[in-house]
Amino acid sequence: MSKENILIINCGSSSLKFAVINPRTGEEFINGIGERLGSPESFIRWKFEGTKDRKDLDNGAHDAAVETLLHLLEEKGLKDSIAAVGHRVVHGGETFTKSSLVDADVMKAIEDNTHLAPLHTPANLIGIKAAQKHFPELPMSVVFDTSFHQTMPEKAYIYATPYKFYKEKGLRRYGMHGTSYRFVTEQVCEQLNMDVNNSKLVIAHLGNGASAAAILNGESVDTTMGLTPLEGLVMGTRSGNIDPNVFSFLNKTYGYSLEEITDILNKKSGLLGISELSNDCRAIEEACAEGNKQAQLAMDVFCYVLAKQLAGLAVATGGVDALAFTGGIGENSDQIRGKVVEALSFLGFELDQDKNLAARFGSEGVITSDNSKATAIVVATNEELMIAKDTAALIA
Ligand code: ADP
Repeated sequence: MSKENILIINCGSSSLKFAVINPRTGEEFINGIGERLGSPESFIRWKFEGTKDRKDLDNGAHDAAVETLLHLLEEKGLKDSIAAVGHRVVHGGETFTKSSLVDADVMKAIEDNTHLAPLHTPANLIGIKAAQKHFPELPMSVVFDTSFHQTMPEKAYIYATPYKFYKEKGLRRYGMHGTSYRFVTEQVCEQLNMDVNNSKLVIAHLGNGASAAAILNGESVDTTMGLTPLEGLVMGTRSGNIDPNVFSFLNKTYGYSLEEITDILNKKSGLLGISELSNDCRAIEEACAEGNKQAQLAMDVFCYVLAKQLAGLAVATGGVDALAFTGGIGENSDQIRGKVVEALSFLGFELDQDKNLAARFGSEGVITSDNSKATAIVVATNEELMIAKDTAALIA
């Protein structure tokens, strides 16, 4: 195997996802995750050549996971095929408008933005340092969730709060899922034979976390997530947009603390909160089919809010040539796509239900009729491949 593969590392506070990918062909040789890192139950599991396996890490944290990963890659004969490591980093603040090679200045700049994502950035930094320790000979890159949205105009990212909070601490909208939006933008233009420099796209990335973005001529001009991923759409467990006074309401009526309310809005709301059943779209769809009223309500609110915000994003692009659905829900839920495309018929979309039903389990394609003035399309996202491509381009 030639030395051109990229090791992708995506660190959370107690997890570490990894994959080895060929940036040219997209072939994935191994993928896996270290979970419950830092606890007595910590372990790492992986899939290699169709076979799944796992190993206990005996209390190990991120460093132990990366060390085990190094031995695993040696054992599978992959280690010498790796040319560089690409790290997914959640927040690049206003400092990073694109992916970068890691050096001391870059590490310092990521650290300086920690206050914007205090739960995620420390884990990202730990992952980079562990990789530097165990793969000292490899160049490393950082690919940010936020950087693609740095092209948003001021009017789209400034909150109507006292301006000094923005000037002093960077309080503004940043948006997330940028790597996915970049990948899907390329795919949509390729599949629809559109010139990216003359394109008006609205993309809905619907996974456990969900957001949507307005992409004008290949650049992000607005998106639904804000300072944090809580803003915008209804998600699996996140409320999305709410009246900010909900904080004082819940504090005064139930006595919840700031931390408790933040936890409720991020982890106990959304589909889970309304349905009181599940955060998982498949489970909600199954409950709807059995006539569960609260699951149906959760679905209705999810779709209504999504359609409303997609229409709002069309203001940013000044009309829509194509609307793309991606992420686990976008790629699989014909129900949600169908409802949303029909709600947006006034923008020129005409659903083709046969095509809509056919697009699932990785099968992509247009879901609007041949006569439709605007096109809706399903595209499978691949953030890991985008990180691998960025990393390969940076070391070239
Ligand atoms: P993450 O944000 O964690 O990457 P995914 O993109 O994998 O999440 O999306 C997970 C969501 O996709 C879940 O709500 C899951 O129920 C939903 N999903 C996956 N397959 C289907 C399906 N066949 N029908 C409906 N929803 C699905």
